[in-house]
Amino acid sequence: MSLGWKWFIEYQTPHSAHMHGIKRTLHSRRTKFQQIDVVETYEYGRMLVLDGKVQSTVRDEYIYHESLVHPVMFAHPNPRDVLIVGGGEGGTLREVLRHPGVRRAVMVDIDTGVIESSEKYMPELSDGAFEDKRTELVIGDGRKYVEDCRGKFDVIIMDVTDPLEGGPGQLLYTKEFYEAARRILKENGLLVTQATSTYYSTYCFATIYRTIKKVFGKAGGYHVWVPAYDSMWGFVYGTKGPDLKEMQAEHLDGEITKRKVEGLRYYCGEIHGSLFALPKEVVESMERKGEIATDAKPTFMPI
Ligand code: SAM
Repeated sequence: MSLGWKWFIEYQTPHSAHMHGIKRTLHSRRTKFQQIDVVETYEYGRMLVLDGKVQSTVRDEYIYHESLVHPVMFAHPNPRDVLIVGGGEGGTLREVLRHPGVRRAVMVDIDTGVIESSEKYMPELSDGAFEDKRTELVIGDGRKYVEDCRGKFDVIIMDVTDPLEGGPGQLLYTKEFYEAARRILKENGLLVTQATSTYYSTYCFATIYRTIKKVFGKAGGYHVWVPAYDSMWGFVYGTKGPDLKEMQAEHLDGEITKRKVEGLRYYCGEIHGSLFALPKEVVESMERKGEIATDAKPTFMPI
């Protein structure tokens, strides 16, 4: 079947994969933390790959980033101080800064290599967000930053690499981490995390949900189809007050206008509602009695 093209193959499980036809590899480097590749694909344009896992593509990254950022930002009555952990390519920061009410956006990423490679080969992802005067960029381990942090935030957004065994993000999906994060959230504060596939790693998604529920008491999950991930992608939130699920489409569209949040391509009131339509079996696996992720026993994706 080889059409003479080169293929990048992303494994979702040991027995299933997604193949991407690539025109050329623009950049490859190994840092202390991970393998970074930027490839030019036929279908999705430029694509950032970390440790063999697709992170973002120029063609569809906004679906992931808008779904990660805006539900919690609009659930909070007036988000001023926001912490982003991970998010190297700058798409999450870009979406946070769409909110004029934000006065401080702190982004903590462990690897300058990801920021440099993205800024060089995919600058449209951050779209100038790193130069915004509200941005504070910190290079370091998100776990340590949160544990040592003395300040407080309205919203914490976890845009970290998947929980892969031995990966740099594995201890950012545990009970101990979420307890530390909850401590630096103000009243009415919310945390959201990317939580892997609700289809081919439902177990991992459900474990992250149970873990956040254990720490926050009030929690929920939602998902969206991300074409380049070839899967429904899950997100889990924990809240000290406002609940994302309770927001009505009409009210939300009104808030988007009232708060002057401009440039959205995917997210709106109707889409918000659709994000929470989870299949029965996924809800059952979330609510089923089961293990939670701890430092001693973290949760991992199948591959
Ligand atoms: N959208 C992606 C996904 O769903 O897998 C995540 C994108 S973003 C590129 C992931 C970022 O997490 C990377 O830039 C990586 O360097 C960062 N990261 C991984 N472990 C980290 C840690 N312990 N502390 C801070 N950032 C970390």
